[in-house]
Amino acid sequence: MFDYHIHPNYSIDAEGEVDEFCKAAVDIGLSEIAFTTHLDADRIADDCYVNVKGKRVDISSGIWFEDYESTIRGIGDRYEEQDLKVLLGVEVDCFPGVEAALPDRFFKTDFDIILGSVHLIDHVAISAKGRAEQAFNKYSLSELGDRYYSLLCDSVDLGIFDVLAHIDLYRRYGEVFYGVAIHDLWKPHLKELAKKMHSKGVGFEVNSSSLRRGMPQPMPEERIILALQEEGIKTVTVGSDAHSPSDVGKGISRALEILKRVGFDGPSSYRKRRAKIVPWDNLEKEN
Ligand SMILES: [Zn+2]
Ligand SMILES: [Zn+2]
Repeated sequence: MFDYHIHPNYSIDAEGEVDEFCKAAVDIGLSEIAFTTHLDADRIADDCYVNVKGKRVDISSGIWFEDYESTIRGIGDRYEEQDLKVLLGVEVDCFPGVEAALPDRFFKTDFDIILGSVHLIDHVAISAKGRAEQAFNKYSLSELGDRYYSLLCDSVDLGIFDVLAHIDLYRRYGEVFYGVAIHDLWKPHLKELAKKMHSKGVGFEVNSSSLRRGMPQPMPEERIILALQEEGIKTVTVGSDAHSPSDVGKGISRALEILKRVGFDGPSSYRKRRAKIVPWDNLEKEN
């Protein structure tokens, strides 16, 4: 089993050393994990930091890429003996102008997987309690759909990442604000998004963190997963979005169960940014 969305304490909102996450993964029998530290580069939103050995460092600093890459690769070598593959990834926060804001070093780092996410609308984090309403207040429900999905589509167009993470993140705080109609927000936009994903070879992620927050569905919810399958998207990863070692692998089996039920051939595994589908039979054999 895989977990392709893990934040070690390089992320300022996460706790736990890389090694502790690896231990947790071995304990529950995972075979592959990807570390995906946040790369938030929107200077107006002002979350442009990472932690390196307890020090807060600007995201544009080359030091953190160097430290991060060598730490993950070094630990990866150690865990190879314990049948755990450790991948070097990153979660890029996508916003208009992100490409120019990304540090040079990002483009030179040898990542295994790059997640792309939309957390911000007009520089405000819709994933953060107490801040999301600030963004929602400006938009009617259908305007929010237009805005959010156009940000997603524009992000895919950049062609800088491999997998679109938590496609319906707006549900986290949006349901309380807009009501249940928010569950249909994707409908007018999904075909266009899938077309762009096809043209750039971008897959999507089933993110199980919503299950830990008491939501009944992963992100995206099952109807979106099915719609993407029907649009012919074949590349899909699974991730817990763990921000502490105790959350590694949580909800992944549920995400896999949904993917199998709606007709995916298997989750994808990544190496050096190339995806390969792991058929269900092979995945079950290794567990
Ligand atoms: Zn995210
Ligand atoms: Zn994340």
